[in-house]
Amino acid sequence: MLIARYLLGIALFALFFFLLKRLIASFLRGSSTKGREGVNLVEDPFCHTYLPREKAIEMRIKGVTYYFCSRNCAEAFEKKAAGVA
Ligand SMILES: [Zn+2]
Repeated sequence: MLIARYLLGIALFALFFFLLKRLIASFLRGSSTKGREGVNLVEDPFCHTYLPREKAIEMRIKGVTYYFCSRNCAEAFEKKAAGVA
């Protein structure tokens, strides 16, 4: 009984720590590259649409982070990138 509570405590702590780390990481990333107007525009490399980074879908392909306007563009670009290499 006691060990189960102990393990649950560890699991909750790990989850909390993980969420906190993500929150800090996103906060640091957002504040360090903030544009003059406070909106970061990113280009969708597939359809070449500009959109705010907050609304973009982020995807890492071969160590490079890309931003997409939609899941469709992200998947199409990923397939294209995989096919070329
Ligand atoms: Zn797009």
